[in-house]
Amino acid sequence: MVREIQAKVLLSHVKQPEPFFGLRYNMNLYRGCQHRCIYCDSRSECYGIDGFDREVLVKTNAIELLRSELARKRIRGTIGTGSMHDPYMPLEREVNLTGRALAVIAEFRFPVHIVTKSDLVLRDVDVLCEIGQVYAAVSFSITTADDDLGRDLEPGAPLVSKRFLAMKELAERGIYTGVTMMPVLPFIEDTEENVAAIVTRAYECGASYIIPWFGMSLRDRQRAYYYRQLDRLFPGLRGRYERTYGERYHCDVPDAARLAARFQELCRQYDLTAQITPYGPQKARQLRLF
Ligand code: SF4
Repeated sequence: MVREIQAKVLLSHVKQPEPFFGLRYNMNLYRGCQHRCIYCDSRSECYGIDGFDREVLVKTNAIELLRSELARKRIRGTIGTGSMHDPYMPLEREVNLTGRALAVIAEFRFPVHIVTKSDLVLRDVDVLCEIGQVYAAVSFSITTADDDLGRDLEPGAPLVSKRFLAMKELAERGIYTGVTMMPVLPFIEDTEENVAAIVTRAYECGASYIIPWFGMSLRDRQRAYYYRQLDRLFPGLRGRYERTYGERYHCDVPDAARLAARFQELCRQYDLTAQITPYGPQKARQLRLF
């Protein structure tokens, strides 16, 4: 179900320092997400999004708000979008909120960082190139290289293979792009084969970076939802989770150190960084974690 709402504020300030993408502002054009990833943390009670899988709220006044808020901003900092919703979920094809927001961001010459699981981002490649003269980064969220597994884990999202092809096209257009490889689901995605396949394919498709987290978060109703999906997709696996993690929130995969070592080796081989180079006129794109 889709419902239209009027928002009071669009851009929220991000607590500094923001460790992953160098964000200063966060922009949520939608509330809820049609991609329905079984592990999504946005189902957690603390976010207060009831009916996360049943309803998407569309902020119909978002573009006017964005324009007036950017006109008043004194600090030019990166606007992030793609947390707690996907800015290119299927609905975006008709509503075009993200596309219109990017046009405003280009006009005000603000930097932007997008996280998405969708190849629909290609629709906006021209405006992204324009924003890229200041700074534009597009991170594709990829947790498995296997399309069949992806269909089960992220049932509403485009296939992983389509995401990689979209990444290739963006890279060929000169847009800074890479992968957020998080979560890596314990006992499902935590194999060297999966990590190697993601890193290799990312390299082939022009990624500049891969940001990993060898684990996942689990809490309250999000854990309950995830376990129901495990029962459906991987009968018997829930018990292994319960024995390993109990009530824990941060759940690193059991062999995280070994996977991280293999990941680092591959990144060195392919000259990929494990962190993004954030917006900042003084920063060159040569940060290396390893
Ligand atoms: S795309 Fe992101 S926000 Fe949407 S359901 Fe998946 S993890 Fe959650």
